[in-house]
Amino acid sequence: MCGDLRQMQLGSPFQWRDTASLSPGDGVTSTIPSLPASLSNDVRTILETVLSGQRISVREGVILHNECDLPTLSNVAYFLKQTRYGNSIFYNRNLHVNQTNVCVLACKFCAFRRGIKADDAYSLSVQEYLDRIEPFSEFITEVHTVGGLHPDWDIEHYQEMFKAFKIQYPNISLKALTAVEIKHLAEISNLSITETISRLKNSGLNSIPGGGAEILVDEIRDIICKGKESSEEYLEIHKIAHQLEIPTNCTMLFGTVESTLHRMIHLDKLRILQDETSGFQCFVPYPYLPDSSRLPEAQLATGNEILRMISLARIMLDNIPHIKAYRMNIGDKISSLALLSGADDIDGTVSHEEIMHLAGSTTPLNDLDVDLATLIESVGGVAVERNTDYTQFRNFRRNNPPDNNGLPMIPS
Ligand code: SF4
Repeated sequence: MCGDLRQMQLGSPFQWRDTASLSPGDGVTSTIPSLPASLSNDVRTILETVLSGQRISVREGVILHNECDLPTLSNVAYFLKQTRYGNSIFYNRNLHVNQTNVCVLACKFCAFRRGIKADDAYSLSVQEYLDRIEPFSEFITEVHTVGGLHPDWDIEHYQEMFKAFKIQYPNISLKALTAVEIKHLAEISNLSITETISRLKNSGLNSIPGGGAEILVDEIRDIICKGKESSEEYLEIHKIAHQLEIPTNCTMLFGTVESTLHRMIHLDKLRILQDETSGFQCFVPYPYLPDSSRLPEAQLATGNEILRMISLARIMLDNIPHIKAYRMNIGDKISSLALLSGADDIDGTVSHEEIMHLAGSTTPLNDLDVDLATLIESVGGVAVERNTDYTQFRNFRRNNPPDNNGLPMIPS
């Protein structure tokens, strides 16, 4: 069934373009945005620095975040995105499978984890894990697998799981295990981080997601996720992955108890590591979602703040190529605005995702890429499907282009 869907939505032939044929800017000429006269001298000077292609400091990032009006900030970030990718907006066809919700930690913001004896605790066997993928296997190009820190699963369990995955789905890329999961695996398997990642790579791991970064300032981590890896450990694990030629993503959870300064320090730490390794593919900022999890003191991010963070990410992270609108977290409406505020990538055709939904997200699952293309086109973008590591692309093509902005047509 899934194969039929692919033909229906993309047309044929099914052909990737490679990076070389994706011209920077995609033929679109961007005009440098004019800055409004009402800006303060500080904000104007910083934005002129950005528009001249120079890097700004943590202090300047804080000033922009707190003092620049949102339309100007978004416009500048959008301009930077347009100069790099034109109207192209990237997505991929992925499936999220959470292998277990059992976790030995209890991060304060987490609504997903369960103790091993909880009634709704689950741990997928290798076969159950493969079975979750099967219905989507002809449609997707990537599986994204993260979960809790299971007390009994060591490196051998994951080696078996990843090898079985690659035997059954050799053409699907495996993006799996956050930095803290890797640290946990290394500890219970009595291995170094390098040995752990090497073994996972040899068993089929293709890339590592960015989850768990939260805020890379330890005084904040002590409040929201005590016991998790330290800021330094997060960065070190990603650095080792990059050295082993495993690309990774990086994230930021904001809107808990951090300040603007903490957010900019976080971006700066990622930027410094990226200068050294160039191993980060994509940055994914997402706000804390209020709900059944346990962090009553969280300040919560407004829509304005979410768009500011997307814009600041594009402006500050001048060396991380892709900024993602994570629609499973921020919803389709804010995601579409994020695409006008510097994001060039939108989380793909996610078909099964639990962590964000347990934490209160209402974005519909099982969207197919036609829906995603509609969202992208609604803000003037061109939907471009990518593979996991952003090395191959193809434009989305409709068999039947929509008329009338998707509204029902009046019969003639
Ligand atoms: S965020 Fe991850 S490490 Fe923390 S409690 Fe939840 S599942 Fe466990």
